[in-house]
Amino acid sequence: MAPADPDAVASGGSDPASHRFECRSCGFVYDPAEGVAKVGIAPGTAFLDLDPASFRCPVCRSRVGAFKDIGPRDKPSGFEENLNFGLGVNRLTPGQKNVLIFGGFALAIAFFLSLYSLR
Ligand SMILES: [Zn+2]
Repeated sequence: MAPADPDAVASGGSDPASHRFECRSCGFVYDPAEGVAKVGIAPGTAFLDLDPASFRCPVCRSRVGAFKDIGPRDKPSGFEENLNFGLGVNRLTPGQKNVLIFGGFALAIAFFLSLYSLR
């Protein structure tokens, strides 16, 4: 008998309490990290902890039976990659920025002066 994979247990990625559920009727997604403020469900409430007798989809009023487990929220690593991609200039060191700013400034002045001297 092989022992259980410790990574699968420790990762927490398969914890049903963190799973989001999608309403198959209207596409509404219940995120346990956010809850549903509109109907008084506090953030951090697992979908499985909701009262199936009283819970209704806040959009189309479907019962819990209409909801499908769509797994945990995407890991934030992809989001961080996007941040770095969009803010590439901000990752320059201050020295590099100064060279860019003042170097460009000096070049513009020199260009301006050369135009003047032509007249
Ligand atoms: Zn719905």
